[in-house]
Formats: sequence, structure tokens, C-alpha cells
Amino acid sequence: MKTVVCPYCGFGCKLLIDPETLRVKPYRGEPNRGKLCPKGLHSVEIVNAKDRLKRPLKRAGSSMVPVGWGEAMDEIAGKLLEIRELYGPDAVAFLASSKVSNEENYLLQKIARLFGTNNIDNCARLCHEASVHALKLTLGTGAQTNPYEDIERFKSVLIWGYNPAETHPVVMDYIRRARKGGARVIVVDVRETTTMAFADYKLIIKPGTDIALANAIVHVIIEEELYDEEFIRSRTVGFSEVRMAVRKYTPEYAERVTGVPAETIVEVARALALAGSGAVMWGMGLTQHVSGVENVLAVIDIALLLGYIGEKGGLYPMRGQNNVQGAAYMGALSEFLPGYVPLTDEKFRKRVASLWGVEDLPTERGLYLTELWDAIEGGDLKALYIVGENPAVSEADFMKVRKSLRKLDLLVVQDIFPTRTARYAHYLLPASAFCEKEGSYMNSERRIQWSERVCEPVGDSKPDWEILTMLGRALGLPGFNYTSVEEVTAEYFRLFPELEEKSVEKLKNSDGIFLPKKRLHTWEFATPDGKARFMAVEMITPWEAPDEDYPLVLTTVRLIGHYNTGEMTLRSPSLVRLMGEPRALINEEDAEKLGIKSGDWVEIETRRGRIRMRAEIGNVPQRLIVVPFHFKANRLTSPALNKAGTPEFKFAAARVRKLGNP
Ligand code: SF4
Repeated sequence: MKTVVCPYCGFGCKLLIDPETLRVKPYRGEPNRGKLCPKGLHSVEIVNAKDRLKRPLKRAGSSMVPVGWGEAMDEIAGKLLEIRELYGPDAVAFLASSKVSNEENYLLQKIARLFGTNNIDNCARLCHEASVHALKLTLGTGAQTNPYEDIERFKSVLIWGYNPAETHPVVMDYIRRARKGGARVIVVDVRETTTMAFADYKLIIKPGTDIALANAIVHVIIEEELYDEEFIRSRTVGFSEVRMAVRKYTPEYAERVTGVPAETIVEVARALALAGSGAVMWGMGLTQHVSGVENVLAVIDIALLLGYIGEKGGLYPMRGQNNVQGAAYMGALSEFLPGYVPLTDEKFRKRVASLWGVEDLPTERGLYLTELWDAIEGGDLKALYIVGENPAVSEADFMKVRKSLRKLDLLVVQDIFPTRTARYAHYLLPASAFCEKEGSYMNSERRIQWSERVCEPVGDSKPDWEILTMLGRALGLPGFNYTSVEEVTAEYFRLFPELEEKSVEKLKNSDGIFLPKKRLHTWEFATPDGKARFMAVEMITPWEAPDEDYPLVLTTVRLIGHYNTGEMTLRSPSLVRLMGEPRALINEEDAEKLGIKSGDWVEIETRRGRIRMRAEIGNVPQRLIVVPFHFKANRLTSPALNKAGTPEFKFAAARVRKLGNP
């Protein structure tokens, strides 16, 4: 049996795959302890999908024709160098992938920076970059603070804008064990979620009102003096500013804004404080708003107030894709070097440069993924090299993105399938699937895990690290002589003091290595004075208010058997069978007014466009329509960005009308 990291969510389950039969079983060790969800169980089905890309292709008019690897890489490198010569290095951008390994993300950001640009980003920008910004501001680090195993021993679990029963099903086992041990489970969301079946308190809030609720909880804890005075005095700054700011957020005021009864807010604040320890977990229900950074700051304030960081608690921004944490740690972000080190940190930057055989690296922040499209429209960005991402479907308001992709002088797409984005490519490079290559991945709890190779790559496809090594060499960049993926692993280990002494063998023979360590901030925070910062925040209203023309609020959600833009799961026959047809959930009274019954075809429209889907009368509040993300929902979503560059996928003004059934 080979041990392989699941290619789907950031929980990071390991799969045991039989190389002969390709049958999948769950790994018994950490972190999944013998459990898998349907996605992991059926993950191997995609490997032999009929339309796997098997050889490099290049554009010839309206069709794509086969080309050799050598010729493709020479031509791509030649065009990139020509564009750099004409317009400068920032006319080129590289889009890394949260689904490829640490080594592959490391190599792509190395190529970008040696090429001369910080235009390197990954889809962390679309999900948890607001968490990174908020955590950096308050704690000085940008990731989950504690391991999953801690959840079981905490006496409260606050789950906010996050539906793990669908998105990270295996983490639910940890939450259930915590509850069995006496933990109070509190779930906050805009609708009744499957996770709420396990909750002691279900708080259904009006979309976009998270800050009012968080501030009201803080208000009650302060008013009733339930906070951890010693922790606040010795380990934080900014408490008095927050005390002032939350004065007006009384439970009664918050009830009017959020819809949550004032007495429930008081009960929840008391339950959290009296628990004595707690996990605070959140997902994209918090981050994918124009107020994403502030939403996270408001929730972190609750944890700081109660001292629930370190031994007594942990912050869990649960990551989406299987290596989104690794992509960020490897430096595939336009504002950070590896390890979330700012570009302006001259000492570290020069150390990285010297390891790579050059004097220095570019210092200006590059373009965010969500800024690329305007840069193309404005004529500043001429070439885009995409590894394993599908922005023609994954970006908010994707019709605008598709228009921009057509305008590029050079678009290279490196992927396992001909995705929707691939239609615009000048070169299409076939990559190996997750179990056809080896390498390391980092899960949400910052555990680096080794993934073994189970089978040979199909056709003429190659592991992404091999393709990127060829690209680096064709561009004439120094140091691209790797002959094995382990050489790349050893190189990135040298950037982190905690890994410097460790060998790749040790990683392969372990249940993973935590970077920088298992539990953060037990004694001090990574801020200049070692103290955490309370941040006072005020309500920020969503970018697009419902009105007469678009009276509903549209929000997007994930389903247990599908994943992101569906390029993988929609090619898995078992998952497609399991999940059936997608449905848009609508409130009973709204449906009645519109003459809609469960199973009717409806058209959902926003100011960006419209999609068709069957409707389902669901347990959702009035004037909310809930659409699964995986089926072109981004034709509708709002492109408004928050401070971290994440679009407001969770809130758009919408209208719905019944269609005649086909
Ligand atoms: Fe894969 Fe996540 Fe499911 Fe585990 S919970 S099997 S990592 S998709």
C-alpha cells in the first residue's frame, strides 16, 4: 500500500492506495485516524478520466495541436523573455496552485522572483487571505494556531461561517469527541447547516452582520466581567479601545441588526466564558465579505478576551484546498516571501536570494490574483502562466475574467484536465495527477506530510515539479538542475530554521512535521513586543444592497461530494451519482410568492449574469437564496474586494424567477 495525501480539502487526510487495484482505504494514523469522506474515498477515479491531458499542445488558429516538450518549453520561455524585454518583468504573472505540492509551489514562486516579479499568487487569495491579514495584525503569525487533536480537549467549540460537516467532514469527528467530553458547541451561520445538527446553540444571523454579533458577545463578556484579566494584562494590548468600541453593541442592539435574540447572545457569551477553554473555528462565511478582515478580527477579539489561545484554546481558520496552507508557506503569495516573511525584510530576502544564487529579489508587492484581470484590461499584464487553477470558473464575476483571458499575448495552462480556462490557452501542458507523483503537502494545522507515488503518469504528462524545472532551465535561471523532487524538498527545508536539521527521510517516515511547531503562542506572540493586539472594529455593510430589482441575497456554499469548480469531482462517476443534480435552496414563503415548487427550474440573476438550476424549498431564512459554488455560481457573484483582495462571494443582490420545466 502507498500512502498518499488526499487531493481535496485542507484537512489533509492520508489515503492508503493499493498500486495494483487502485483501491483506497483510510490511513489509521494522524490526522484522519481511519476516517475518510466520500471525496477522498473516490479520489482515484479521476486518474483515468477519458479527457486527461496526455501530451503538450499549442494553439494553431482555433485549434490546439501536439508539440514536443522541448519545443514547447523553448517557445514559452522565448515569449516570456521577449515580453520582459519589451515591457519589463511585471508584465508577466504566475498563478500557483493550492492543489500541487510544496515543492511545486516553491519552484513556481522561485521562478517568478528570479524572473524579476512578485506577480505570484494562489487561490488562498480567494478564501482565507483575510484570515492571514487579521492573524498577522493580531498575533504576528498568519495560520491556524493549534493542532486538530486539541479540539477534543477544549470545553467549547465556536464554529463561525463554517460548515465542516460538508467541507471538512473528518474534522467533525474531533468536534463530536469534544462534545462527548462536555464541550458546548456553538454554530453561527446565515442558514440552518448540517453542522448545526451537532450544536448546543444555533445562531442564524442576517448575512453580513457578523461584526455586530461578535461585538455583542464581547460586550456581554466585558459587562459581566467574565474575561481572563491576567491573560489580557500580561499578554495583550488594546483592551480599553475594544471596551470603548463595543459599548454600543448591546445584545438588544445586536438583536435588531443580526436577528439573533438578545437572550441567546447573552447565553452564548456566558457559555463560552464559563467553558474555560475553547476552539474558535471559522471558514469562508467570515472571510468572503468586503468586511472579511474585520470579521475575523472581531471573532479573534472573543478568543483574546477569554485567553483561548495557546494552551487554553486555539484559532482554526480551516483551509479549503489540500495544499493551500503549503502554497502560502512556500511564498506563492504576492506580498510574502516563504514563511509569510514580508518582502521588505531585507535580511531574509537577501538570504533567500543568496540561496538561489543571485544578489537580491524584487521588493514591490505583486498583483493579487483578483487584480490580474484589471491589469490585463489596462494593458499592463501581457502574459500569464497558470499551474492547476481555473480562474475562468473560480473567480467572482467570471465573465469579466474570461474577457480578459482572451486579451493576453501569452497564456500557459499547466493542468491535468482541459479546464474551462484551458480554452483560452496558447500552450496547454499536461501535468501528473496527485497519485502519479510524490512530494510534500501542508494541511490546515501546518502539518507537512509526504505523499507517495502510486502509479506512472498517464501518457506524456509529467509531475509539475519536472515541468517547472524545465521552465526554469529554459529561462536560463540559476539553480534549476533538480533531478529529484527530494532535492527541492531539501532546498525549501533550508529556508526554515525549524526544518534545517531535519531530513527528507525523517519526513517520509513520520506522521508529518509541524511548521514551525505544533502549538503556537503558548508563551508569547510573534509581534515586536510579544503581545497580541485587540482590534476594535465597526460594522461594514456589504457592497451590494438588495433593492426593488434584486430583492434577494444570494450566498454560495460547498457540498460534501463536490469540490471547488468541479473539474475533479464532476469527473468522478461515484461522486456525481452520490450527489445527484444541484439545487438552489429557497425559503418556503419566498417560493410561494414566486410560484416555485421543489424541483422546478428557476433562473437566478444578479447584475453580473444569470444561471439556471432546479430549486429546492429549504430551511433557509426569507429573502436568502443559497447556491452551490461548484456549478458556475461565479457568473453571479460580486467582484467587490476586501482589504486582503478576497471577493465578496457570500453576498450579492439577486432575483429569481420560475422557468417552464423542460
Ligand atoms: Fe479528503 Fe478532506 Fe474528505 Fe479528508 S475530509 S477525505 S482530506 S476531502
